[in-house]
Amino acid sequence: MMRFQGIAVSSGVAIGKAVVIGQDVFSIPSQYVAADAVEQEISRFHQAVETAAKAIERNRDLVTQELGPKSGAIFQAHLEILRDQKIHADIERLIREKQYSPERACTEVLRRYADVFRRLPNPEFAERAYDVMDIERQLLRALLGEPRRSLSHLTSPAILLARNLTPSEVANLDRKMIKGFVTELGGPTSHTAIVAQGLGIPAVVGTGPFLAEVAGGDTVIVDGDRGIVIVHPDEETLREYDQEVRSIQAFTAELEKLHDLPAVTLDGTPINIYGNIEFPHEAVLCLKHGAEGIGLYRTEFLYLGRSDLPSEEDHYRAYREVIEAMGDRIVTIRTFDLGADKVAAQFGFEKEPNPCLGLRSIRLALRHLELFRTQARAILRASVLGNIQVMFPMIATVAELRQAKLIWADVMEDLAENGIPFRHDIPIGIMVEVPSVAIMIDRFLDEVDFVSIGTNDLIQYTLAVDRTNRNVVSMYNPTDPAVLRLIAYTIQEANRKGVPVSLCGQMASHPLYTMLLIGLGLRKLSVTSSAIPEVKKVCRSVTLEQCERVARRALEMENARNIHAFLREQLVKVVPAFARMI
Ligand code: PEP
Ligand code: MG
Repeated sequence: MMRFQGIAVSSGVAIGKAVVIGQDVFSIPSQYVAADAVEQEISRFHQAVETAAKAIERNRDLVTQELGPKSGAIFQAHLEILRDQKIHADIERLIREKQYSPERACTEVLRRYADVFRRLPNPEFAERAYDVMDIERQLLRALLGEPRRSLSHLTSPAILLARNLTPSEVANLDRKMIKGFVTELGGPTSHTAIVAQGLGIPAVVGTGPFLAEVAGGDTVIVDGDRGIVIVHPDEETLREYDQEVRSIQAFTAELEKLHDLPAVTLDGTPINIYGNIEFPHEAVLCLKHGAEGIGLYRTEFLYLGRSDLPSEEDHYRAYREVIEAMGDRIVTIRTFDLGADKVAAQFGFEKEPNPCLGLRSIRLALRHLELFRTQARAILRASVLGNIQVMFPMIATVAELRQAKLIWADVMEDLAENGIPFRHDIPIGIMVEVPSVAIMIDRFLDEVDFVSIGTNDLIQYTLAVDRTNRNVVSMYNPTDPAVLRLIAYTIQEANRKGVPVSLCGQMASHPLYTMLLIGLGLRKLSVTSSAIPEVKKVCRSVTLEQCERVARRALEMENARNIHAFLREQLVKVVPAFARMI
């Protein structure tokens, strides 16, 4: 039996026979072209671009249809790279000036671009190198025909083991045949990982070299929760994992039955579960999982992945789609939170040395009022269609909040003067994601209709740990006592003053924290749609008293690790099935 540790990127366990595939080996038949064939070869390159574009468009449509536009956007980005004029010019120059064959020119130019990405310090950007390599393969495939890597010959279910898989290869996997996959390369934020999650295929990436140790047909276990790969499992391990697969299936079926049941504790306290969305179409998913409303609509995604700014109509259409999907349920629209890791290229703003501490979010809105006002107009116009509330992100001072409210009132006045209908009673709230707000929360509560705790940033700013930096990931602890104190104080003060409070950071989406958060006094959680059943399961398995005891004990404890272990122990006591997932 051999065991390899990688990075768990897509949950679940798969057991099956290995199919091992190596690197695509495209052998390039000729490296140079004759001088008088240059123009003909350049047009062959352009034809290949069109063929590759069609293949990528097919992948985009397939993935968009199955997984929604967010995943499809990966391939839209591939298309943009494929059609990049600078890349075309570089390739044409090599064909024209050095008489390279289009195959060689494509390989040389795209590998150079991939290297630039690979050297970037931010691992998320560095992983974009794989996307560039994917485009190189698509172009070579268009120029030379299919390499030997086709998986269409598979006739029985298998586990795919590869040095690397590109997002398009994962998107094209036959889910009936491929039960799981493992790659030697790849990281947690790669698009390959994102597509795998969307498809629900258990996957482990970044194991390092191990393919030499495996032969096709070997039995392999992929544990997509723990990042473990076992080759040639012994009888006992196989039995244990078989049992796990059965219990995962049973638990998933149990969770599915909760969709239409309320999130209420065993002693009758209702917990309101709302959904977080980035794109309008996700509202339907939230409803499907039983969300009572939208607790966070991250509207900045309207600005990402496009080359121009969204117009007032673009904003309006997006909000209308969400509001109409949600009927009379509450939709919390957060004004754009751009900057830091959500950068809109079209602004062309100056690069900042510390973007998380720079001109992001509400600061950007207050500096570029035309953007803020355009969005505010669209939100206000859409307000007559349903039940919305508006939320300002990244507020750090009361002065900033007042300024944002002033602009909001000014836009309302404008609309009123022009006879454009809107609701005058839209509740206005803020995110609590900067420690200064949590510390001074009593002052803010006097000036808002509701607050929502954004733990993703609150943790980052309290502990001075970049939430996207893999090097400090072990220091990014939701259970750090300092973080818990800020959350506890915010909830306590909001409840004391009777101002509605919710939590919409990732902490709310993880069942590990549900008891703690209820125990701290929260009655409203806003979570990723897929996490709704799990969180609901916890709510329906505990009493309020149990949760309060857990929260009291956690607040007394000294360090994040012990609190995490304690919460895990308490959760597993009430829902044992969570033991393997956490
Ligand atoms: C947060 O910071 O917790 C939050 C919900 O906002 P975002 O993740 O969009 O920064
Ligand atoms: Mg935030």
